[in-house]
Amino acid sequence: MSDQETVESRDFVRQIIEEDMRIGKWDGRVHTRFPPEPNGYLHIGHAKSICLNFGVAEEFGGKTNLRFDDTNPEKEDTEYVDAIQEDIRWLGFDWEDRLYFASDYFGRLYEFAEQLIQNDRAYVCSLSLDEIRSGRGTPSEAGTDSPWRDRSVEENLDLLRRMKAGEFEDGEHVLRAKINMAHPHMLMRDPIMYRIRHVEHHRTGRDWCIYPTYDFTHGQSDSLERVTHSICTLEFENNRPLYDWYLESLNIHHPQQIEFNRLNLTYTVMSKRRLLELVNDGHVTGWDDPRMPTLCGLRRRGYTPASIRNLCTHVGVTKHNATADMVLLENSVREDLNRTAERRMAVLNPIRVVITNYPDGSEEEIQAVNNPEDDTAGTRAVPFSRELWLERDDFMEDPPKKFFRLAPGREVRLRYAYFIRCHEVIRDANGNIIELHCTYDPETQGGNAPDGRKVKATLHWVSAPHAVEAEVRIYDHLFATEDPNNVDESEDWKSNLNPDSRHVIPNAKLEPSLGKARVGDRYQFERLGYFCVDPDSTDEQLVYNRTVTLRDSWARRKKK
Ligand code: ATP
Ligand code: MG
Repeated sequence: MSDQETVESRDFVRQIIEEDMRIGKWDGRVHTRFPPEPNGYLHIGHAKSICLNFGVAEEFGGKTNLRFDDTNPEKEDTEYVDAIQEDIRWLGFDWEDRLYFASDYFGRLYEFAEQLIQNDRAYVCSLSLDEIRSGRGTPSEAGTDSPWRDRSVEENLDLLRRMKAGEFEDGEHVLRAKINMAHPHMLMRDPIMYRIRHVEHHRTGRDWCIYPTYDFTHGQSDSLERVTHSICTLEFENNRPLYDWYLESLNIHHPQQIEFNRLNLTYTVMSKRRLLELVNDGHVTGWDDPRMPTLCGLRRRGYTPASIRNLCTHVGVTKHNATADMVLLENSVREDLNRTAERRMAVLNPIRVVITNYPDGSEEEIQAVNNPEDDTAGTRAVPFSRELWLERDDFMEDPPKKFFRLAPGREVRLRYAYFIRCHEVIRDANGNIIELHCTYDPETQGGNAPDGRKVKATLHWVSAPHAVEAEVRIYDHLFATEDPNNVDESEDWKSNLNPDSRHVIPNAKLEPSLGKARVGDRYQFERLGYFCVDPDSTDEQLVYNRTVTLRDSWARRKKK
């Protein structure tokens, strides 16, 4: 790749930083941060922001802070604080000793508030929240000045101190920035900086009964941490003039804000509020339900950190919001697992097959390749015996033209083992097929006929007496529609939930080596997809999740 190409393939964020480095802005420093609010678990959209913030810092020899933007005591919880850290580490990023909390800055922010009052740039307003809202005007009409706008500096300081001391009830007063009630940008019409809230905070406990708004906290927190590039999503373009106003009025370090597009995916929702609703209403089993777009859900589903990082690289960073096809995420994990996951044989919908000419009571070990994509993965022994499980769908009594698998009289190959031919179909009293009688050709050991004759199908199988049983959970999209957020006001977005997103197979038959797997282990079940061991597994009951099919079966379904 030439230098020219390298530059052109860089996204606009990296181009900005590269130029900053070239001209020596920020003394050659790159310092970013990832600023989650601990009011939910991280999802794959956050992963894009994490990859970008930590990624650019790594590339330019800089640093990244993890800072919890915890200004909203009612919705925040230490459960989320812990889970967020675990998820970022799992994704492969490290903030070293730079773990911060906006709540650590409550003292500094309060000093900033007094400073703004001293400079006649903030005032205590005693209107109700409703009055404040209606006084803001509309985009085409100016708002009206609060009757409290001209309080003296002394009165404002006194009131703010008494607010802080707990002398007032929630809602009695707020602190507002004194900007301009006729400002064309609504957000600049004397926005609220502090509210009275007599509630406990997950870190500061009862130390405070006034809390700064997110808008009064975010930019100053970045400034206090001497962040150089405040990278955030596009919707914050709207807040930038206000952040600029606070930083300029306070005359403190002013990071450069850069906005990029959010990641959205088809067939799922990415709003924490909605994800929480799914959890609370029991539509999923928890934040880590394998159908959730959360990082803990994807991890439980079997997604690898690399597959998520690769998706984030692949979708890239732009200035335009768009929705990425879920297939991209699925392809990303297929690509990764194809290289790394060992192959195994498992039968999900079993039918019993008896090899009538195989000596009763005897068995043998068949050598099977662990991973054809990885020369170092070696082989394993798989037991073969007179009774096998085959996939019910791999047999048809009366096959149509294009069905090449097992049928009466027909010969197929059993993977790594022998050719078998079906001779007899056994039924129960109700006429259901319960067993197939076949013969094998001992000359075809290893799966090839010395006389060169061919078969049209190779089937996976599991020796019945050796099989390990497991519950296998098969997942489909959480929502039945591509954009579940797109609903009329009268409709409930949850009406788009896919009623068949989870299907449980209670007793699939697995080759014995799969019985030793541990939680999180990932395999390719030949011909069926990628699977991983679920944490619900116990000594008595193994549970596997299907991560993804081998190919994009969804796309094939749609084309029909
Ligand atoms: P909310 O503010 O509604 O609670 P949020 O998803 O913005 O939800 P934050 O915890 O504020 O949650 O997000 C932390 C960081 O992750 C922010 O910088 C935000 O811009 C970024 N982020 C959130 N969602 C996405 C997304 N879908 N794609 C890319 N970045 C995202
Ligand atoms: Mg946010």
